[in-house]
Amino acid sequence: MLDLAIIGGGPAGLSAGLYATRGGLKNVVMFEKGMPGGQITLSSEIENYPGVAQVMDGISFMTPWNEQCMRFGLKHEMLNIKQILKNDDGNFSIKIEGGEIKLAKAVIVCTGSYPKKAGFKGEDEFFGKGVSTCATCDGFFYKNKEVAVLGGGDTALEEALYLANICSKVHLIHRRDEFRAAPLIIEKVKKNEKIELITCASIEEAYGDKTGLMGVKIKVKDGSIKDLKVPGIFTFVGLNVRNEILKQDDGKFLCQMEEGGQVSVDLKMQTSVKGLFAAGDLRKDAPKQVICAAGDGAVAALSAISYIENLH
Ligand code: FAD
Ligand code: NAP
Repeated sequence: MLDLAIIGGGPAGLSAGLYATRGGLKNVVMFEKGMPGGQITLSSEIENYPGVAQVMDGISFMTPWNEQCMRFGLKHEMLNIKQILKNDDGNFSIKIEGGEIKLAKAVIVCTGSYPKKAGFKGEDEFFGKGVSTCATCDGFFYKNKEVAVLGGGDTALEEALYLANICSKVHLIHRRDEFRAAPLIIEKVKKNEKIELITCASIEEAYGDKTGLMGVKIKVKDGSIKDLKVPGIFTFVGLNVRNEILKQDDGKFLCQMEEGGQVSVDLKMQTSVKGLFAAGDLRKDAPKQVICAAGDGAVAALSAISYIENLH
């Protein structure tokens, strides 16, 4: 029986792991299906984590987090969790892909979110063959070539700036004429000579052949279609909450959820089910920042320690 199971190894899961193990829990496992670090490892740079003045890429930034947790005894199991169930005796069953089940006294869910699809024709067909959601991973393939970026949030604009350092030109396509990114980033994008803004525009179709993407057809402001011949398009149109593991066999969620699929929690990151905590991007009103996810993880771990201490 585990004292604590942490599901997800992003900033929330790793911070929860650090606080739980350093706080005295002995048998703590962080189930992370990939390498620990979370979605910030997709980012080309992070510059807003307090105390870290140096601008770093996401992978370099997260590597020490993992090392620090392991020093205090956190175990990482690289497994994909399929479902969390609450048993009649108050413990939790963690169903692992492949059928194995692990038992835990308490659970912290930190599964974060994943990129949304934009919904244009050809997006799925050319995904991984020209359509990408990760500039750090795929940007280099387009060195000195023209690419397109879709979206008007912080991610789209930051990644457009990153791509402008590698590519010959970046066409930034956004459906409105105002961006929702932070003003400082908007200013940087507008000043960048390699970035061309295409606003009030939508992608009609991505086209190509079996070798990959050859271009995108865009409906622009006056209603005409612009053919942008680019071998790569990066889509950054927001994130979906990863809440699937909380779904029960009857289709209902294990705990109370918000309308958008985020987990309802109180200030202790406690869900509506005793012993089940949620932290980071998947909880209600999450500001979707590394610092906030990390803070949530620490709070959830301290709450879990107190919950376990008070059992029986
Ligand atoms: P995540 O980081 O999403 O981690 C969740 C983890 O859970 C993942 O590693 C995933 O593999 C794992 N997981 C999910 N489901 C399962 C399962 N069923 N079984 C096992 N493991 C599972 N924030 C900032 O503060 N500053 C920035 O500059 C910044 N830049 C960003 C740039 C990009 C491109 C992106 C995408 C995000 C950026 N963010 C930034 C936001 C920040 O990355 C997130 O707010 C933060 O990572 C959320 O942490 P989390 O731990 O809640 O979730
Ligand atoms: P986001 O803020 O939700 O922005 C998504 C963008 O995509 C919006 O501009 C939206 O347009 C557009 N969009 C949505 N659906 C679309 C569709 N189907 N077709 C075309 N365009 C579409 O997402 P994000 O930029 O990934 O950011 C997610 C969160 O992480 C935010 O809270 C953000 O602040 C945070 N984040 C922070 C940093 C940082 O602090 N440096 C960096 C990255 C992300 P509209 O504007 O018209 O809605």
